[in-house]
Amino acid sequence: MKNFFKTDVLIAGSGCAGLYLAINLPRNKKITVITKAKAEECDSFLAQGGICMLKDEGDFDSFFEDTLKAGHYENDRKSVELMIKGSRDVLSDLLNCGVEFNKDQNGNFAFTKEGAHSKSRILFHKDITGKEITSKLLSKARSLSNIEILESTTLLDIWEENNRCLGGVVKTSKGELLLIGANQTVLATGGIGGLYKHSTNYSHLTGDALAIALKHNIPVRDISYVQIHPTTLYSEDKDRSFLISESVRGEGARLYGKNKKPFTNELLPRDLLTKEITEQMKKEGSNFVWEDLSCIPKKELENHFPNIIEHCYQKGYDVFKECIPVVPAQHYFMGGVKIDYDGQTSLNKLYAVGETACNGVHGKNRLASNSLLESLVFAKRAALKIAEDTEELDIAGLSLPCLKKYEDTKALENHYKQIVLEKIKENENV
Ligand SMILES: Cc1cc2nc3c(=O)[nH]c(=O)nc-3n(C[C@H](O)[C@H](O)[C@H](O)COP(=O)(O)OP(=O)(O)OC[C@H]3O[C@@H](n4cnc5c(N)ncnc54)[C@H](O)[C@@H]3O)c2cc1C
Repeated sequence: MKNFFKTDVLIAGSGCAGLYLAINLPRNKKITVITKAKAEECDSFLAQGGICMLKDEGDFDSFFEDTLKAGHYENDRKSVELMIKGSRDVLSDLLNCGVEFNKDQNGNFAFTKEGAHSKSRILFHKDITGKEITSKLLSKARSLSNIEILESTTLLDIWEENNRCLGGVVKTSKGELLLIGANQTVLATGGIGGLYKHSTNYSHLTGDALAIALKHNIPVRDISYVQIHPTTLYSEDKDRSFLISESVRGEGARLYGKNKKPFTNELLPRDLLTKEITEQMKKEGSNFVWEDLSCIPKKELENHFPNIIEHCYQKGYDVFKECIPVVPAQHYFMGGVKIDYDGQTSLNKLYAVGETACNGVHGKNRLASNSLLESLVFAKRAALKIAEDTEELDIAGLSLPCLKKYEDTKALENHYKQIVLEKIKENENV
């Protein structure tokens, strides 16, 4: 059949969630990972601060409480418990993939702290932790012969029949429409930053999986819970907003108003600090507040944040000598396609993982550096669940969807953006 092929597991998205799920599936399964842009062009590569870890058993209660407090106690408690308890297993997998984290003088892991954490429990690799983790996951996926990664290939819709997902309709890098049949399909399409004028996210992350879920009446959850990051480098350019990681404040950076005087507690949870900064800007009639990185000991600043130093330098700021202008921007989506603890959506054989999925782990507001961890813990759980399901898709007797109606992809993409934005707006007032 033309424009059709069959795989075992179809995964839309090559971020840390999609890749980690892929490499945790049995090697005898044929896995097809599709990704809208280049494999490296995903938010997972941008993560700066780090990944939370259960450092020792004694930290469980305070890690749990910090996550809940940041989430305004709206978190699903079982999800939080699974995430924290799953962190050691994830760490061991990452180390096996060759991921390296910063160490202290004694050769032990160095842990850093970010806003709303009562203790240092974040593992990091300089200020490019996401790149370190995701590039190693990508190398691993590329080394496995059962995994194929199709770049510049966009999921346009899922193929649903009789309350079962049978795969997806995609547009290939050559602009062709293709139907991919799959025993299981996974939505791992990341966040929604591309829907906003100012965001730290890649602009092609437009919540496609959410729109597809809404179209198929698959429940979504916490859809109006959008996190604004308090500190991104202020710029007149229209580029992606550059994040000034929270761990910079965790290590001592200060925030100042117009008069270069402190006006807030820098370690408030993200939503509260964003509110404080926005109010300060309003009061002063300014477009930004100042962040002073020179409060951080020089050696620490150099060793821990080389990427931020370099980026600021490129934009004309010497962080050792002067403050940088910072402003809040859209950063993270706590809501998503509703899933259970194993990544299953309400539609049979359809899974969702990573930022595009929601099992309530973050509540109303994500605690810093819980996102990479959550993506990985629940991606692995989904992989184990999928591995248990050996039913083969049989397309005999099924009516294949008509691909013609997907030809105007621009109109479809715009329609999808509108559906998601409307849904977010609608729920903001609930
Ligand atoms: C600047 C920045 C800094 C961050 N820092 C941290 C941090 O320090 N610690 C932390 O825990 N979290 C951090 N985060 C959040 C974290 O990086 C993300 O939440 C996490 O990486 C999401 O992973 P993911 O796999 O779900 O999505 P992503 O990594 O964003 O991947 C999404 C994938 O889906 C693909 N895609 C999208 N739509 C389609 C479609 N229709 N068809 C096919 N493919 C599609 C994309 O091309 C991409 O490959 C940060 C985020 C940003 C933006």
